[in-house]
Amino acid sequence: MQLPEKVINLMPYAPNEGNFDVVLDANESFISLDEKIADKLSMEIKNINFNRYPDPTAKKLRQAFADFYSLPWECCVASNGSDEIIGVIINCLTQKGDKILTLAPDFSMYGFYSHLSEVKSIQIDKLGESDKDIEEIIKILEKEKPNMIIFSNPCNPSGKIFTKEQIRKLLKGCNCLFVLDEAYMDFSDQSMLNEFENYDNLIILKTCSKAFGLACLRVGFAVCVKELADKLLAVKSPYNVNTVSQLMAQKVLYEKEYLLSCIEKIIESKKSLCKGIEELEQKYQNSFKSEKTYTNFAVIKTNEANEIFEFLKQKKISVRCFNGFLRITAGNDKENKAFLQAFEQYLKERQG
Ligand SMILES: *Cc1c(COP(=O)(O)O)cnc(C)c1O
Repeated sequence: MQLPEKVINLMPYAPNEGNFDVVLDANESFISLDEKIADKLSMEIKNINFNRYPDPTAKKLRQAFADFYSLPWECCVASNGSDEIIGVIINCLTQKGDKILTLAPDFSMYGFYSHLSEVKSIQIDKLGESDKDIEEIIKILEKEKPNMIIFSNPCNPSGKIFTKEQIRKLLKGCNCLFVLDEAYMDFSDQSMLNEFENYDNLIILKTCSKAFGLACLRVGFAVCVKELADKLLAVKSPYNVNTVSQLMAQKVLYEKEYLLSCIEKIIESKKSLCKGIEELEQKYQNSFKSEKTYTNFAVIKTNEANEIFEFLKQKKISVRCFNGFLRITAGNDKENKAFLQAFEQYLKERQG
């Protein structure tokens, strides 16, 4: 048997393997669900019709999400994590021979699904979410006429952000499908969610996995004009979000005050993590550079990303290693401290 060329070199997605005491590699929330809310959810379990398929339209879940952000529910489509809807958008809203414009660095799944869908992807290396980047993207949009542009804002993994003004400018220069992944926007204030109705080619992606601390449920959303939303509903797999996830996420989304307080805590934790990193930057001059981020993670620029990554791994601390930089998810006080201490030990030993 001959497998298609495109899958021969693929390997299963492997998050940082190993046994870690401190897990700061996946941008999850460090806050697990409040016990009282968890108790309420456990009462709900017995009301589930386990023998029946889920609601294919996930109406109540979409309503809860729409209420949280004050959006029309018909314009919100639920998915099995935003990962799934990224795959659906790239696979179903393009056809053979199409081109997708992506930016770098960015979320790896865009390239992954483009590869599987056999669309041509064009990549622009960003300079750091600047006006120059916007000009460059507009230039490439005009020149290459791609069928879709997709990127995250704020960006995973750079942590940087384009302002609303910059995004509007891009939208003005774009008549193809525009997919804006706002997975981390709850930690910042440049969301286009309130303006999505002005653009018939804009799809905004959201997830419950990061700010809301519900990564285990696998629930994400696409927000777009109803005509597009109806198309997404038409092409997604019918029972994509299971009943348990629909119910649990729906209930938690109505705990708005609680969720907002979690977001506050995560922002505070990231600030204190960054402060610790900046203090080390002062103390050990010229050994690395800390970057300003608008997300729930810190970024350290360094030529020794691999060495630091391996050192931390030995201390049972996992962070994410990229070419030339490290990404560290904000954890609780203890986790942040463990990272900072181990990082300082590395810097000390390096100085010798
Ligand atoms: C984590 C992440 C997602 C994935 O979210 P899920 O809903 O857990 O699939 C999507 N986009 C970006 C940029 C992310 O970092």
